[in-house]
Amino acid sequence: MPILRRLSLITALFSMSALLAGCSSAVENSRYEEGKNHKLTVLHTNDNSGQFWRNDKGEWGMAARKTLIDSIREEVESKGGHVLVLSGGNINKGVPEPDLQSGIPDILGMNLMDYDAMVVGCQEFDIPPNTLKRQQELADFPMLAANVFDSETGQPQFDSFKTFHFDGFTVSVVGITTPDTLRNGHPENTIGIDFRDPVRTGRSVARMLRDDADMLIALTHLGHFETNNGCLSSPGDITLANKVKGYDLIVGGHSQDTLFQPVRQNGTWIVQAGSRGQYVGRADFELNNGLLSMTDYQLIPVNHEGDEKVVPEDPEMLELLAPYKLDRNAGVLKEPAFRSISSPNESVADYRTTESSAISIISLNDN
Ligand SMILES: [Zn+2]
Repeated sequence: MPILRRLSLITALFSMSALLAGCSSAVENSRYEEGKNHKLTVLHTNDNSGQFWRNDKGEWGMAARKTLIDSIREEVESKGGHVLVLSGGNINKGVPEPDLQSGIPDILGMNLMDYDAMVVGCQEFDIPPNTLKRQQELADFPMLAANVFDSETGQPQFDSFKTFHFDGFTVSVVGITTPDTLRNGHPENTIGIDFRDPVRTGRSVARMLRDDADMLIALTHLGHFETNNGCLSSPGDITLANKVKGYDLIVGGHSQDTLFQPVRQNGTWIVQAGSRGQYVGRADFELNNGLLSMTDYQLIPVNHEGDEKVVPEDPEMLELLAPYKLDRNAGVLKEPAFRSISSPNESVADYRTTESSAISIISLNDN
């Protein structure tokens, strides 16, 4: 059922506050064209946790995902629509490859698929801060987190949002990271980091952006729950939607929920796409005279075992990622096969377990 929301189109100057660090300046006004049917398709993944290559059963992987994304992009753009590709965070940790290679293949793969933005996930704090900084430099897309600050200086640690300007309409994407990262992430990597309340931050940013954007998206790593599953304390996407007005869509991560249909709360659609690249979420929107509607939603499987239709793997992606695929039977990964980084200063090269590694381990953490 398409649900409509009237969008305010008040022209307002945007004043940048110390609270916010945006990736682009906010628009001064919304300029949808009267009578024109604007189309936007939001594609999303979350919690890939280093699963850039297909698994042993031939499932998932970025090469098949690229084929899917490319074909959707071609279809949408051929009809005059636009595409945003978003990640709900956690590209690091999970399988050995990202830790051993500083998450480089994951970021290169996301660059090749033209991801537009990612929220900083809790597992991005399992790697040393220097490595995360180098990942940001390598990424062609912003890593967003509006509620993560330096506890001493009060300075934002990441960009808060990014505004996208399409022909005749604007979309702002706000990143929000779970404060449970203080419990989930490596404790040494969260020293001096202030994770502010997602609801309060989400509300402040929404108030500043929503009148200037035709669509406002919260790209979250909070989890799809009211409170964090009862065992932890941070609010999740459902609470955010119920307590904050103004977000049209919440693209989530962290709890790894596989939502085959969007959940509607307080006028906000909430989506999440499982984990490890098992699915690509696709939400199609239309904007008509200031009214936004979701016209279709699909959670598209990426080569699950037993699928009748196999998505071919993109050759360019295979060529890009093949050098980073670890041969787990070639002695590259001796015991322990996986461990957390124990020190912010520990180099990824410290993980090298044999000189005869089939790959050369590249370190982003070189100082
Ligand atoms: Zn998480």
